Amino acid sequence: MKTTSHKSVHNPAVDRRSFLRTVLGACAFCPPLGFSLVQLAPSMSESLTKEQRDSMTPSQVIDELKKGNERFRTGKMAPRDYLAEKRSSAAGQYPAAVVLGCVDSRVPAEIVFDAGIGDIFTGRVAGNVINDDMLGSMEFGCAVSGAKLVLVLGHTACGAIKGTIDDVVLGNLTGLLARIKPAIPGAKFDGEKSSKNASYVDAVARTNVVLGLAEIRRRSPVLEDLEKKGSIKIIGAMYDVATGAVEFVG
Ligand SMILES: [Zn+2]
Repeated sequence: MKTTSHKSVHNPAVDRRSFLRTVLGACAFCPPLGFSLVQLAPSMSESLTKEQRDSMTPSQVIDELKKGNERFRTGKMAPRDYLAEKRSSAAGQYPAAVVLGCVDSRVPAEIVFDAGIGDIFTGRVAGNVINDDMLGSMEFGCAVSGAKLVLVLGHTACGAIKGTIDDVVLGNLTGLLARIKPAIPGAKFDGEKSSKNASYVDAVARTNVVLGLAEIRRRSPVLEDLEKKGSIKIIGAMYDVATGAVEFVG
């Protein structure tokens, strides 16, 4: 991680910094709070270092995800050199978060959070359902690798949610959708409860995220303990496929 050159302080691109590097670049040399965003420029060509990632609190990781989504949503994504990020992360990775999202092609976590190679672990499965393998992946990400956040990322207009509402039966999909089923009675909704009603679909998706968070805590004492100690946060979010905005929930 390079310190800011005099030139980069005056670079307008400094406001379009990449995910985490602003605060991390500063945190590597300054107290976590109160630093100036233009004191130290982010490197757009290096992945997170262990020191940078470890210097962050879980809340700071959430803040950086919010900033990254804001850059994405407003079309001000950070200039990025993937090959340089690839080179800098080859010897080791120190991601700050584990994101469990849906396979939906419209919700790639790295893009909607404007994150780079090495910044976040990403697990994807239809309906962002919790299963043992995903829990194991989250435990690896946090307890072994040191990530500070578990984020369950649901989204609007989710086909898996629609399929669950419609009781779709199809091969292995049947069992997957069964994991989403508890969100249907769990969703508080007044109105037409049909897969054709976008508001209802999104209400079920949101409930599915909230139930997923409870499931993580219930089925993973490892993660629950880390959360109780304050080492990590477990949080949910809904991504709007129309606006590009992420709303944090739970
Ligand atoms: Zn989906």
